[in-house]
Amino acid sequence: MFDHNPGKTERVEDPLTRLHNRESYFNLLHKRVTESALNRSTIALLVIDITDFHRINHIHGYEIGDKLLYAFASLLEGVRREQDHLARIGDDQFVLLLRGVMNRGHARLAAMKILKLLELPFELGEIRININVAIGIALCPEHASEPVSLMKLAERALLLAKMSGNLLEFAPEYEKDELSDEWDIEIELEDSIEKSQLLPYYQPKVSLKTGKPVGAEALIRWNSPSRGFVRPDLFIPTAEKMGFIKPMTNWLMNAILRQSQEWTEKWGPLSVSINIPPLLLLQPDFTATVRSALNLWPNSNVTLCLEIVERSLVSETEYCFQILSQLRAMGLKVSIDDFGTGYSSLSYFKSIPADELKIDKSFVEDLTTDRDNLNLVKLMIHLAHSFGMYVVAEGVEDLPVLTALKRLNCDQIQGYIFSKPLPHQDFCSWLQSYKGIKGEITPG
Ligand code: C2E
Ligand code: CA
Ligand code: CA
Repeated sequence: MFDHNPGKTERVEDPLTRLHNRESYFNLLHKRVTESALNRSTIALLVIDITDFHRINHIHGYEIGDKLLYAFASLLEGVRREQDHLARIGDDQFVLLLRGVMNRGHARLAAMKILKLLELPFELGEIRININVAIGIALCPEHASEPVSLMKLAERALLLAKMSGNLLEFAPEYEKDELSDEWDIEIELEDSIEKSQLLPYYQPKVSLKTGKPVGAEALIRWNSPSRGFVRPDLFIPTAEKMGFIKPMTNWLMNAILRQSQEWTEKWGPLSVSINIPPLLLLQPDFTATVRSALNLWPNSNVTLCLEIVERSLVSETEYCFQILSQLRAMGLKVSIDDFGTGYSSLSYFKSIPADELKIDKSFVEDLTTDRDNLNLVKLMIHLAHSFGMYVVAEGVEDLPVLTALKRLNCDQIQGYIFSKPLPHQDFCSWLQSYKGIKGEITPG
């Protein structure tokens, strides 16, 4: 029905209103927050809740309830500008994401417009219905510069609006005690490199065709003095937010290129993969940074592979492709990471400058019990092969999954079945003593 899709590649999902659904919205939110950091522009989230929707459903029935939601979506559509996004993220909860906002007043104006339009009742056939809404607003970067906190603050503002009866509220100012944990992480992370608290771990990748190891993915670990080993998904978002991700990735790239010089040549050429967050790929000096690391640590037996999450290629596609092509021309490999989770458009496949496609572990783990996943994996492998890419399945934990992947013609696997990510010396020992899996995988 509507054109909510200025980004073109995003998928419209909610079947009732045809707006972005929750998942699609969160993907968009990540992109827009990144974009706002890069362009130094402001975005605003308006979380809009129909406060008496349950009552309406109860009195008029679900059919009218559905019609009302549809009509309400149309009303919001009237407020949305070309560049904004509209989503339905809960039964009676919507988000209007405004881009290129000048200030609070601008966001308030959009909210007032919605409230004004709601002064007239909805006419649904014979029935006229008035609804009440509450609106919570948060601005990026004023309230938060990271998608999860931003959303949390907008939801908190909504709660305030409901409690105060004020209809619309802005996010509360920084609540020190709640955010202080994040501050602590920031402060501690800042000198984690100098204090040698960051460590590359390596998880082996094995070829299903030859049975031999083909390399490893480097996964970062942080040994914090106050928290012990911190999982990367807990500190990487903070590292991205505070700009630390750039020196961190640079450091990691140099560390893995240096360490991989010690790898045995027993198995022939190997690769070492590093995760590159979208934000970095878009930095103007990225290619130069990679080039100088490669010059510093030349190695004829080990190729550097950049893992880029699929999601990040959805915006700025053309520019990303250009950078990736340059990097491949320098002899690097490019891998599309977490494939299947990002709603990319299939049409980009014909021009994607990548060597490897990495199927996300969420599709792999229940491959043998979930027919849909089996079919999806089959399709992804076929797709990758048709476009000249090889396929790595991550998160392989047991033999039945390995066997199924072999049958599906998957090229390489990575997962606990071979090893968890290991510190460098342990990985070197693993490489030296690798013997395959008896009866299944024999390194020729
Ligand atoms: P990812 O890139 O998808 O990495 C794969 C994750 O799956 C790793 O978690 C790995 O330890 C885990 N894994 C591997 N095999 C198995 C398995 O058989 N079963 C299960 N259940 N899990 C398996 P890890 O190391 O905790 O990393 C989590 C995420 O953090 C990574 O997901 C990546 O997105 C991010 N990350 C890790 N290291 C870095 C880094 O150096 N830079 C950046 N930017 N992100 C990183
Ligand atoms: Ca990865
Ligand atoms: Ca993954």
